[in-house]
Amino acid sequence: MVFVTRFAPSPTGLLHLGHAFSAMTAWRAAREAGGQFLVRIEDIDRTRCKPEFEAAILDDLAWLGLDWDGEVRRQSDHFAEYDAVLKRLRDDGLVYRCFKTRREIMEEIERAPHHPGEGPDGIIYAGPDEPLGSQEETRRLSAGEPYAWRLSLSACRLKFGAAWGGLHFTETGEGPGGETGEVAIRPELLGDVILARKDVGTSYHLAVTHDDAMQGVTHVIRGQDLFHVTHLHRLLQHMLGLAVPVWRHHRLLTGADGKRFAKRDRSVTLRQLRDEGVSRKEVLTRIGLRD
Ligand code: GLU
Repeated sequence: MVFVTRFAPSPTGLLHLGHAFSAMTAWRAAREAGGQFLVRIEDIDRTRCKPEFEAAILDDLAWLGLDWDGEVRRQSDHFAEYDAVLKRLRDDGLVYRCFKTRREIMEEIERAPHHPGEGPDGIIYAGPDEPLGSQEETRRLSAGEPYAWRLSLSACRLKFGAAWGGLHFTETGEGPGGETGEVAIRPELLGDVILARKDVGTSYHLAVTHDDAMQGVTHVIRGQDLFHVTHLHRLLQHMLGLAVPVWRHHRLLTGADGKRFAKRDRSVTLRQLRDEGVSRKEVLTRIGLRD
C-alpha cells in the first residue's frame, strides 16, 4: 500500500512538545509502513511567519532524529496555484466576495434570530441574509475596498444535494468526541468559511487541501484540534475532484496545568529544552514515547 504522510507546521513560532508528538507520530507511521514522510511549511501569512522560525523548526526536527523525503514544500512558493484553485471555485459559483469586517460579521450574527452560534472552530457565519447586489459589488470594487472569498454552503448544497451527496471521511484515529470509522460530513459546523483572506489571497483550508493532493498525501496525521475542519476539507476535495486520503487525528498533549501547549509558552519549546540541556530521549519520555 502506498503510504505518504506529512508534518505541516506554520513558522509563526518555535516547535513545542505538542508539535514534537505530532511530528514523531506521523514520521513513525510512515517509517513503519515503509512509506514517505513529507515536511511542508505553511507560511501563507507573510506577516506572522518568519524565516528564522522555519530554520529553527527544521533544525529541531533533525535534532529529534526525523528525516524527510524529498524537498520541503513551502506554501509561499505556490500562491499562483492557490489562485487557480480559487478561480475554479469562482467559475463554478461556489464562492462569493465578502467585504465585511470581522466586527460587521459579529454584529450580523448577533442580530440574526436563529444564528447557529459557536461551532467547534469558532463563530459560525452562515452567510448573508441577502447576497450583495451586483451594482453594490461593482461600486465597492471600484472604490478599492478589500474583500475575502467565502465558500457558499448554500451553493454547495444546491450543487451536491442537502446531504452533501452522502460524503464521508475515514477516521482511523479518533475525533475529540470519539468519532471514528466512516464519518458523514457536516460542513455546516463551520459555516461559510473564508477560502481566500483579504490580506493573503488564500487560506489555510484551500492551501492545505490543494497541497495534500499535489503531494500525494494518502494519510493525514494531525492533532484532534483539526478534526472538525476535515468536514470542510472533504467537501473541498469533492468539489475539486481531488484524491481522498484517510485521516488519523491524534490526542492532544497537555502540560502539568491540564492546558494544551502553546507556542507562546517558551518553557515547552524544543529550543528552550535543548538550551537547558534536556536530551532527545528525555523529550520523548515527556511526550509519552519510547526511543
Ligand atoms: N499548519 C497547521 C498547523 O500548524 C497544520 C495543518 C494540518 O496538519 O493540516 O496547525
